[in-house]
Amino acid sequence: MTIPAREGRVEEHVEHAAAGRGRVVVADDDVLVREGVISLLERSGFEVVGQAGDAEQLLDLVGEHLPDLAIIDIRMPPTYRAEGLAAAHHIRKEFSSIGIVLLSAYVAVNDAMDLLASCERVGYLLKSRVTDVNDFIDSLERIMKGGSVVDPSLIMELLNARRERQIQLDDGALPDFLPHTAAVRAADWRIAPVPQDLIDRRVAQMEAEGVIFRTNMEVGKAVSVQRLLDDYEVLVLAGGAELPRDLDIPGRELDGVHFAMDFLTQQNKRVAGDAEEKAAPNGAISAKGKHVVVIGGGDTGSDCIGTSNRHGAASVTQLEILPQPPVRENKALTWPDWPLKLRTSSSHEEGAGREFSVLTKRFVGSNGKVEAIECRHVEWVSENGRMAMREVAGSEFTLKADLVLFAMGFLGPRVPGLVEQSGVDLDPRGNVQANTSDYRTSNPRIFACGDMRRGQSLVVWAIREGRQCAESVDAWLMAEARAPA
Ligand SMILES: Cc1cc2nc3c(=O)[nH]c(=O)nc-3n(C[C@H](O)[C@H](O)[C@H](O)COP(=O)(O)OP(=O)(O)OC[C@H]3O[C@@H](n4cnc5c(N)ncnc54)[C@H](O)[C@@H]3O)c2cc1C
Repeated sequence: MTIPAREGRVEEHVEHAAAGRGRVVVADDDVLVREGVISLLERSGFEVVGQAGDAEQLLDLVGEHLPDLAIIDIRMPPTYRAEGLAAAHHIRKEFSSIGIVLLSAYVAVNDAMDLLASCERVGYLLKSRVTDVNDFIDSLERIMKGGSVVDPSLIMELLNARRERQIQLDDGALPDFLPHTAAVRAADWRIAPVPQDLIDRRVAQMEAEGVIFRTNMEVGKAVSVQRLLDDYEVLVLAGGAELPRDLDIPGRELDGVHFAMDFLTQQNKRVAGDAEEKAAPNGAISAKGKHVVVIGGGDTGSDCIGTSNRHGAASVTQLEILPQPPVRENKALTWPDWPLKLRTSSSHEEGAGREFSVLTKRFVGSNGKVEAIECRHVEWVSENGRMAMREVAGSEFTLKADLVLFAMGFLGPRVPGLVEQSGVDLDPRGNVQANTSDYRTSNPRIFACGDMRRGQSLVVWAIREGRQCAESVDAWLMAEARAPA
């Protein structure tokens, strides 16, 4: 959408001494965010003179009220691409004394570079940070006084953007227009390494307790399930949910399209000190200098973003088919379940574009190599009480992509080998069937726990299930031992 010029509008900034801390217009299509921000502003002594749900309304309000500050969501209807930003440029041009705060739910500052670099009295804040009231209000005041405020999380992306523009920066150096708050965080963007010594210590402790670890030993291949059942009383299936969801669309066969785990495990091995031939025996998958598109918005996707940035990717974009969740959860609706809200990981903070409600239609390339991906926006509508996906006509767009990583979740355990040879029943979702009272499968000597039993989940669940399963195995073995011969 092009934001139309407002002809004949002359800037006539008015002093609003009676307006407390300042007069503000808030524009965001997400009514929850809008109301949250407004409530914060009002409680903090600002006067909210108008609120808008799209860019057109915003421009009308700004023209009508000439506020001190316009707080603008970057993505708004009708296409959700960058209408807020376009409106902000327009406001900057026509009413230069109005402070502008760009709000974004995700880190994608590249588009806003020109605005940020070219003027004062501007801010770029992540919605997730707005919950820190003091910080937010402090940022607004600094912007109104003529300063610029950029959320520290955006530094990496700014650096990447500069790199793309071939501007040389020393490692850790900052674009000159970044404010002090950003500079303070500049040095600590690298995530601390995993404390391997803690893992080593636990392994040593378990070995001392009598556990034998056999690595590089795939059960079902290197050793059969029957052999284990012959030699041991009990077998616990804890092999995880490793079957990745695929995307069967044109161009899937192109070089450069990979499952996330093929990419991530190589890097884990390198970090663990493995030589390249061992870490990547089938060839390295590198993101260096590439435009990376990660399909899937979960934890695996986050890991792909972090790893790609560390490889030195030219750009990283994450696509998610579901709509963007709210920034703040509705606790009344979700408690005690895991609340639905936008999650911004440290990998996102290091730099990645995030696109929601996007369907990948096909991969395109030449000479057998992927070069781009064609997408379309979708909308989610309620049909007979279920959410159904509809493609939005005319919303097609293409992204440059030299490396595509599938991080769309896992369908369940891999069946060939271990599960197949165990011969245990599977549940309707394809996981190994066992309950959480005794973790026993359809074979009384085989137990199952963790992702292999419950499907793709979280570490905390795996730990809990592992412990409870061990208790159940212990109880069974003790009962067997006590049973009369
Ligand atoms: C990329 C990624 C990122 C994640 N990020 C998070 C996160 O941030 N937070 C979180 O809570 N959860 C996260 N998860 C989920 C979490 O890792 C799992 O829920 C958890 O590890 C499950 O534990 P598990 O012991 O059941 O299975 P796993 O940890 O998957 O362990 C299964 C093990 O069994 C081995 N195995 C499989 N088959 C065989 C066989 N036939 N023979 C011998 N060994 C076999 C596998 O090699 C593996 O080592 C993530 C998952 C992935 C893939």
